[in-house]
Amino acid sequence: MVQEKAKQETKFVGIAASPGIAIGQAVVLRREIIDVNHRTIKKNEIEDEIKRFGKALKSAQGELSDIKKRVLYKIGEKDAKLFDAHLLILDDQIIIDQTEQKIRAERCNAEWAYFDIMKTFHDSLFKSEDEYLKERAVDILDVKRRVIRNLMGDKPCFDLSSRSLRIVVSHQLTPSQTVLLDRNAILAFAVNLGGRTSHVAILSKGLEKPAVVGLKDFAGHVENGDRLIVDGTNGIVILHPVKKTLLNYRKLQEKHQKFLHDLLPVKKLPAKTLDGHTLQLAANIELPSEIGSVKQYGAKGVGLFRTEYIYLSREEFPAEDDQFKEYKKVADEVYPNSVIIRTFDLGGDRLLIGDLKIDEQNPFLGWRSIRISLDLPELFITQLKAILRSSYRQNVRIMFPMISSVDEVLRSKELVQKAMEQLKQEGKEFDPHIEIGIMVEIPSTVLIADHLAKIVDFFSIGTNDLIQYTLAVDRGNERIASLYTNYHPAILKFIKQTVDVAHQNNIWTGLCGEMATDSIIVPFLVGIGIDELSMTPAAIPEVKKMIRSIRFNSAKRLADEVLQFPRTEQVKNELVLFIKKNLPQIAEVVLPREEIV
Ligand code: PEP
Ligand code: MG
Repeated sequence: MVQEKAKQETKFVGIAASPGIAIGQAVVLRREIIDVNHRTIKKNEIEDEIKRFGKALKSAQGELSDIKKRVLYKIGEKDAKLFDAHLLILDDQIIIDQTEQKIRAERCNAEWAYFDIMKTFHDSLFKSEDEYLKERAVDILDVKRRVIRNLMGDKPCFDLSSRSLRIVVSHQLTPSQTVLLDRNAILAFAVNLGGRTSHVAILSKGLEKPAVVGLKDFAGHVENGDRLIVDGTNGIVILHPVKKTLLNYRKLQEKHQKFLHDLLPVKKLPAKTLDGHTLQLAANIELPSEIGSVKQYGAKGVGLFRTEYIYLSREEFPAEDDQFKEYKKVADEVYPNSVIIRTFDLGGDRLLIGDLKIDEQNPFLGWRSIRISLDLPELFITQLKAILRSSYRQNVRIMFPMISSVDEVLRSKELVQKAMEQLKQEGKEFDPHIEIGIMVEIPSTVLIADHLAKIVDFFSIGTNDLIQYTLAVDRGNERIASLYTNYHPAILKFIKQTVDVAHQNNIWTGLCGEMATDSIIVPFLVGIGIDELSMTPAAIPEVKKMIRSIRFNSAKRLADEVLQFPRTEQVKNELVLFIKKNLPQIAEVVLPREEIV
């Protein structure tokens, strides 16, 4: 007899990726590895086996139609059509007949028969010289997995049919998987891999869902339907919580929700310190559908539009007109405020797809970001033209990511000129004086900021990458997450240096990395005179409240002081002390629990 495993409360510690507390049931997204075993069936079981096969085909059909509908709604007709190909394969009478014949003739289980028949089809397509047929081979694999999974009684990798809210548990989540998930069906994320600034962390913040990443082997301990608590503020996940734990967390959850609710009135007020120093708080967005949150939380426009997610959700480079529509939607929505559209920042953990897919030993140090754009000028110009067209109301700025040299900026600006000339010839409207800025996210960029400031209109400090490239710590690697810190003295110096050089050259500097949402360091950033902080929209009220509760003069003194410290720990302690002393009324909610006791 199989004994049910004791469901003991177990705490897993990971990395706090997106704040808030969620309590609910898990849906486990397993990696779809198919391990098909052969089983001989009795003669009198043959008809039942064929029925079972028919049922699995039907369920697979239901799943595919559901996904198709969602993709149609979320992304568009062209992408939804991809699923028609899958539905056609599923319906293919030759495949169905051959599978049934095999079950009858060889008296084998349906999984085995279908696997074998589909393998023959796959192999012959894959060997084809015709590119179109070759691509269909991938579709065959997808359909095969789906049907066999249904035969085995496993849940889909993405249980899109579920109507109740679930906590998504997974070993890993790719950006394209994440953008396809339905935000209305998700309570929170708990993922084995990833660091504080990995794409899962960024996307879960954009979706306003609590998330803990870097949980190592957590997903392996969880079954569909298991009860979980995800504490995204403190990086803790509790499996099978007992009554007392649930009660405690419900209280914390209420407190957090009340705090967020009480913050909403600040949305209409400026981000101004008690002694009158003002800065801008803008929003980071990944997809145009997040634009509603920009207004909801009172952002002054968009400080970072990560356009690569448009590509990742389609898995191909969108045409100029398609991009133009997306950029225009955002620019129109935020008008008269502005939007900074960052050109594609692919590579690293935002994997390339199709022909561009490459295997690299060090993808973050490899073919990434502006390097790809400059190597593929046609694609780059297509994007630049789409951005320029969306600038016709003069509220759009262009930003280049991962700049490491003056040459890269000059070459990129030449391509902007080329894009402008083409648009002029085509008689299309754009802003000829559009501002052009760069991300400062590599140490070499900070060190030549004086040269760069003379050829761009603004800087935006990308601390997610600046930290990884300065401290040589992979931002997505949970094993070394403790080395990835906002408070390292080298990071503080680089940020201060960038702001100072920008101001000496009369240009402004924003900061759009996740650091902008770290309440502990916000007073330091205010103190060094940063001009804009751009962050996930839901974080804006808390940061604004913070700014409105401090004095610029005290923040300046704090910044001068911590810039002298040699050790990370000293920096952090001093920053925490500042909050406890100056903002006791919000310290309890904004500081991680270990800092409060
Ligand atoms: C950064 O590096 O801080 C940044 C904002 O860019 P991304 O996170 O998209 O790499
Ligand atoms: Mg970056």
